[in-house]
Amino acid sequence: MTASAETRTSIVWDYAPAPESADHIRLKDRYGLFVGGEFRDPADGRYEPTINPANEEPIAEVAWAGPGDIAAAVESAREAQPKWAGLRELERAKYLFRIARLIQERARELAVVESMDGGKPLRESRDVDIPLAAAHFFHYAGWADKLHYGVNAREVAPLGVVGQIVPWNFPLLMAAWKLAPALACGNTAILKPAETTPLTALLLAEICQEAELPPGVVTILPGNGETGAALVRSKQINKIAFTGSTAVGRDIQAALAGQDTKLTLELGGKSANIVFEDAALDQAVEGIVNGIFFNQGHVCCAGSRLLIQESVRDEVIAKLWQRMRRLRVGDPLDKNTDVGAINSAEQLERIEVLVAAGESEGATRRTIECELPDRGYWFAPTLFTDVSPAHRIAVEEIFGPVVSVLTFRTQAEAIEKANNSRYGLAAGIWTDKGAKAFEVASALKAGVVWQNTYNHFDPTAAFGGYKESGFGREGGPAGLRPYLQVIR
Ligand code: NDP
Repeated sequence: MTASAETRTSIVWDYAPAPESADHIRLKDRYGLFVGGEFRDPADGRYEPTINPANEEPIAEVAWAGPGDIAAAVESAREAQPKWAGLRELERAKYLFRIARLIQERARELAVVESMDGGKPLRESRDVDIPLAAAHFFHYAGWADKLHYGVNAREVAPLGVVGQIVPWNFPLLMAAWKLAPALACGNTAILKPAETTPLTALLLAEICQEAELPPGVVTILPGNGETGAALVRSKQINKIAFTGSTAVGRDIQAALAGQDTKLTLELGGKSANIVFEDAALDQAVEGIVNGIFFNQGHVCCAGSRLLIQESVRDEVIAKLWQRMRRLRVGDPLDKNTDVGAINSAEQLERIEVLVAAGESEGATRRTIECELPDRGYWFAPTLFTDVSPAHRIAVEEIFGPVVSVLTFRTQAEAIEKANNSRYGLAAGIWTDKGAKAFEVASALKAGVVWQNTYNHFDPTAAFGGYKESGFGREGGPAGLRPYLQVIR
């Protein structure tokens, strides 16, 4: 006799630990700066440890660039640029293809290092970050000899040397988003990884060596915010591409005001995920979970404002809470883990401050009960209901596994509430009606709108925001334009 549906769904399935082995990792004790095609000690910088946020253990020492190092790096990138731009376009493409293939070959190692350095679940680094990083190099390798077609048949030239500053939430993927189009267009690039996650960028430097990329085409300068600020202010740079917080984006924009340095900014978000009453609710709940708990919510386009139509509010919240209680929080290297470690002590503190504000402003908090490891930085998935649009948790980017629920009655109210944000990066729409989805999508001021899905990325599609989420697009042919000047 088969058990009833109720009995079957009440069974709690336990998982045995399934840790990925880290034995195959070939990390060095120390990584220098990657300048002129080789690793070198910092001349006026220093070495700092990078730690594993899941256990607070140091993984390796990494060089931080000082002002003299930045000047030397810019000189090397300037020297290399005309030769790189002068290569036959198909030759440039070959290097990008090679890098993509080498990322694939070293995918397992890169995934483990990404999870160790950043805290994200291995399932995500293995299935999302690393394959997408390779896909970006493949995609832009294909564009290298077709730039002309990517910009409406205009005659184009590279900008020169570009400075690229990336955050810690998708370290290798953000590096690929930035480097691949810049190189395809004939620029040389100086990349500054985030302070807490430099390792996969340094492995990418090794890959550039293996691919025999000409020296100076890619430079990797780890460091802290000061390194980023000094790179921005370096006089010989033709363009800055930045992904990170709105506050730092603003600072960079002010520093470059009045200069002939091009700029693209991909900043924060407080994206609305809108669930209409006619949606397939079980599917929507999966999308809500993926929208906010993917990568611990450290995602610029996270669906952190959940807008639910009032008629299905209780049902959606009940299903969501049931689903959340089954999320597995813990060791990022365990293949069963859904939610890994928070990237740093500072980020954990920011999340805690905003969650405390949510409680003190009167929202109702529910956090799943789970056993958290003794060491490392952790925050269990949290749901806030009774949230008003003025609450800080409905307005500010939390960048953690915390979702704030608001409700609406009509389509017009959903649009108004979704657009009531200083950000405009992404949105999700859950409905069974195609026409409604298109109508709502065209009324939303958001750079990316997903329909009946969330957090899906593809190198062929443009990504970027409106308002305080920044400007400029990355991905697809639109991602070429910020790295080119139109001659005629
Ligand atoms: P930041 O904006 O400070 O960091 C992003 C990158 O910029 C890092 O490489 C950082 O270096 C560098 N940087 C820091 N200060 C400067 C500066 N003055 N000039 C140039 N570069 C600089 O983000 P945080 O890591 O401090 O995170 C803070 C908040 O920002 C998060 O809580 C989240 O809300 C938001 N954020 C949004 C992201 C997004 O994708 N939209 C990504 C990351 C954060 P370093 O790491 O060494 O400080």
